[in-house]
Amino acid sequence: MDTDGHAHTTFSDGSALDAMVAAAETVGLDGLGLTDHCIVTEDEFGRRDQYDLVETYEERRAVIDEARAETDLRLYDAAEVSYVEGDEDRLAAFLDDAEFDYTIGSVHFAGPYDYTSASQYAETGGAVRRAAVERYYDAVVSLVESDLFDVLGHLDLPERMDALRRYTTRRDYERVASALADSRTVPELNAGRVHRSLGRVHPDPAIVDVFREKDVGFVLGTDSHTPTELRERVPTLRAVVDEAGLEPVELATLVD
Ligand SMILES: [Zn+2]
Ligand SMILES: [Zn+2]
Repeated sequence: MDTDGHAHTTFSDGSALDAMVAAAETVGLDGLGLTDHCIVTEDEFGRRDQYDLVETYEERRAVIDEARAETDLRLYDAAEVSYVEGDEDRLAAFLDDAEFDYTIGSVHFAGPYDYTSASQYAETGGAVRRAAVERYYDAVVSLVESDLFDVLGHLDLPERMDALRRYTTRRDYERVASALADSRTVPELNAGRVHRSLGRVHPDPAIVDVFREKDVGFVLGTDSHTPTELRERVPTLRAVVDEAGLEPVELATLVD
């Protein structure tokens, strides 16, 4: 593994940009994607209030340029953009303007469901949980079909949550893999929960054959918010790649 395509800085909920770059140098990477949360669409979950990269990406661009002068790493001026169904035109217009090196598209909420907070599912039974998960994959397929993004972020996000874990079926993965096979969008192997809750990368390497059958490759992402997370997660991703015999998609191929 030479690159980490998913890291957050203080321009969203991560750590100082130069500290993230230093961590990437320490573990011997040669490329790092700076992918702060970018919320273009107002939502009922308050994420637009929490993250303001739509206003600060030019400021961040200047900081990235300064950091480039100090490192041999290739730094990617990228973003993790929340995908909201029905708002494709606004997203496309903003992304055209912003000209990021590449974008990760992520579903964090869909319809009435929030996939970043467990509280909503505490009192629910299996039918509601399955409905929430099914709704998630509907949104993921729409995201891929929109062709707005280079990368599909954490493709099975519900797996991160105790309440929703194991409600994803092989059929869900197959739907996503089919959509990806017809798209320029590449999924990521995400290490955001390797050392807590889930305890492994996702999607599960055991399900990766569904994607391989359709010639869909993966980029690697630590989804780290601190230098320590980055340093700890890179070796884990490297081990998974070795074990599964994966040939990761390089970030450089995403930049046009
Ligand atoms: Zn995310
Ligand atoms: Zn992230």
